[in-house]
Amino acid sequence: MKIDDIQIIPISIDRSEVFKIATGASLAAENVLVRVKSGDIVGWGNGTPNSVTGETTESILSALVRMKEHVLDRKIVIEDIWDELSAAFPRDPSALAGLDIALYDLYGRSEGKKVHKLFNGDNNGVLTDRTIGIMSYEESVEHAAEYIEQGFKALKIKIGLDLIQDIKRIQGVRETVGPDIAIWVDANQGYGVEEAITLCDKLVEYDIEFIEQPVKEDDLRGLKKVTDASDIPIMADETIKDHMMAEKICTEELADMVNIKLMKCGGFTGGRKIVDVIDNYGVDAMVGCMGEVIPSIAAGTNLALSSRRIKYADLDSHFMLSDNAFTGLEFKDGKLWLGDTPGLGIEAIMDKIEKYKMDLEVAI
Ligand SMILES: [Mg+2]
Repeated sequence: MKIDDIQIIPISIDRSEVFKIATGASLAAENVLVRVKSGDIVGWGNGTPNSVTGETTESILSALVRMKEHVLDRKIVIEDIWDELSAAFPRDPSALAGLDIALYDLYGRSEGKKVHKLFNGDNNGVLTDRTIGIMSYEESVEHAAEYIEQGFKALKIKIGLDLIQDIKRIQGVRETVGPDIAIWVDANQGYGVEEAITLCDKLVEYDIEFIEQPVKEDDLRGLKKVTDASDIPIMADETIKDHMMAEKICTEELADMVNIKLMKCGGFTGGRKIVDVIDNYGVDAMVGCMGEVIPSIAAGTNLALSSRRIKYADLDSHFMLSDNAFTGLEFKDGKLWLGDTPGLGIEAIMDKIEKYKMDLEVAI
């Protein structure tokens, strides 16, 4: 089986509301869809611009056009293609993720299996949270009630701009949702070490399952200091972008858990490399997302199903969009369920892709 064609399609879909976190705010989600074809079989993926890897829609488009030249007409051996491209394009992990996810979708379809089944995964649904961005106390509490009403069993609260206000919001959300809903907290690097330790102490009484990335991504000593001091588990996110850093975090015990995001680590293949490391050390993980559309959300769902070490999923960015251009991923009983289609378990809606397509020149 070889790669006969690759199409690269930038799309933009408005968000249902402005999404604000400690590092910025956004109104629309841009994604670059990748459609790979081998014979009659088609696979879909997406690369998503984001501030964590520093990739833009334009850089992803440009990298994918160059990656296409490398792999067109090549035999599909995904690991080999990934190793070659990740070495040749070290600054373009989200672009690589788009291609890698599309190749896995294609390969799974050709085998008549879901992607997670290729790794002996179970067919259970994946419990996902719904994220509450940085907003006022009243809005945070209102959103929390609304999401619980919709069936979510876990909430992630974004914090990191104002310690006192953050603690108040978390207290308000806990009081609103009661004791049975999981609450996760993400500071997106917003605090200094001492502030972060204070925060962890204050949050113990609100039964928080973990706190993500309290300090700057490159402050490894600070991260360890907070991890050692905190009674609430600390999860590294922006700090960990690949399996090498996963290894360092595990051996030096810099954090208690890691957040695997396919856009940071070059897609499903990069995600599996991190899973191999954490499996080895017995460290738990979450699979997360950043402004992504359904193909990579479905890929994240498949990744979660492929490893028992992935205990949490933050796969909610498609819920924040005004529309979706793929079907197959269902939300029921607080969980994401994949459709019947092999591969990622999704199908494209071509007229919607056409509708949201951006008219962009590719600079190479
Ligand atoms: Mg995070």
